[in-house]
Amino acid sequence: MGPLPTPAAAEALVRERIRTLPVESRPLASLAGAVLAQAVRAERDQPPFDRVTMDGIAFSSAAWREGRRRFAIAGTQAAGRPPLRLEAADACLEVMTGAVLPAGCDCVVPVERLRIADGFAEVSEDVLIEPFANVHTRGLDCREGDMLLARGTRLGGPELAVLASAGLPRADVHADPRIIIVTTGDELVEPGEPIEAWQVRRSNSHALRAALALRGFLRVADDHLPDDPQVLRDRLAVHLDTHDLVVLSGGVSMGRFDHVPQALREVGVEEVFHKVAQRPGKPLWFGVSRGGQPVFGLPGNPVSALVCLVRYVVPGLLAAIGARPAPAEPIPLGAPCRVQPPLSLFLPVQLERSPTLGLVAMPKPTRGSGDFISLLGTDGFVELPPGPADYPSGYLAPFHRW
Ligand code: AMP
Ligand code: MG
Repeated sequence: MGPLPTPAAAEALVRERIRTLPVESRPLASLAGAVLAQAVRAERDQPPFDRVTMDGIAFSSAAWREGRRRFAIAGTQAAGRPPLRLEAADACLEVMTGAVLPAGCDCVVPVERLRIADGFAEVSEDVLIEPFANVHTRGLDCREGDMLLARGTRLGGPELAVLASAGLPRADVHADPRIIIVTTGDELVEPGEPIEAWQVRRSNSHALRAALALRGFLRVADDHLPDDPQVLRDRLAVHLDTHDLVVLSGGVSMGRFDHVPQALREVGVEEVFHKVAQRPGKPLWFGVSRGGQPVFGLPGNPVSALVCLVRYVVPGLLAAIGARPAPAEPIPLGAPCRVQPPLSLFLPVQLERSPTLGLVAMPKPTRGSGDFISLLGTDGFVELPPGPADYPSGYLAPFHRW
């Protein structure tokens, strides 16, 4: 057996083997977090007309330059109404935010700078009047036909506003992956069920599901299987028929009841790698089914399971929905750190503000990969290169959020 892949090499192997899910058309209301499979161009100039940006009055700046300070109010231009025309130079029109600038006007004075009485508006002498003051002019932000969203863009608030403004009620996106989390282990008991002293609560599925939900992956089923090779084989075959990606927890180490790798091979899942040069989470298993579905066998220890989900399953899911890879952001360590084994270290951290270094990652080591209680209060983990090495405070380490 050759050397184990590094985390970066393992991630690259995952990305290489993951196919992009098919494209489907979905309504705007269901698109948060999805990735565009089409380009989007501007339907119209933006703003589509000279748009009033303050409630106030509009008039011609030429009248102001000629010394006029008091204007007869000749009408009201509301948002959503076709443009009025200002007929007389000594008059103004009342205007509302979002209205089109009336014809014959080129400036707006906000209501706060006016005295209004008896059908007249008087403008304070100290107001700065210049053409297109308080007007968001047509086409300033973009022109009709401009490319606004490229294929591969992940849709958040600003992107969805732009899609809607382009007049599209639906868009082509990559399908939302149907994920299943399959926990294994005869010792595990569901919360709410009676439990013996030697049994363990089944917690991984909840932690993993939360990490997925926080990233917008909501089509997540859940199953629990005993450490029984026959049952594992049968159920995994069924799950592979109905899901795009399988995440297993437990049963991938060297124990006598760790049947997962063997069961996966028997249902035709090709092993891509087993074990990564990292701590925790070294026993991670990854393969691809005959149907092309990625299958992750996460170690059962709760810290390992969550770290491996964030570090490998999430990038795999992003690849499956066609998102561009987003490299982890480097953050300076808030305290020095020693790494002993020749393995990459995934170290839980809490983000804090330091007076000298700005935002720093404060190491919060656990008491091993079974100690998920110590993760409370942490924000994620940093990835430190293999030891033996000492990393000083301020060392820039890639940060992964839970
Ligand atoms: P395994 O990888 O199956 O050898 O499990 C390693 C350790 O993680 C054991 O102590 C298990 O009891 C624990 N474990 C496995 N799966 C879960 C789970 N779903 N929730 C909580 N602990 C688990
Ligand atoms: Mg187990």
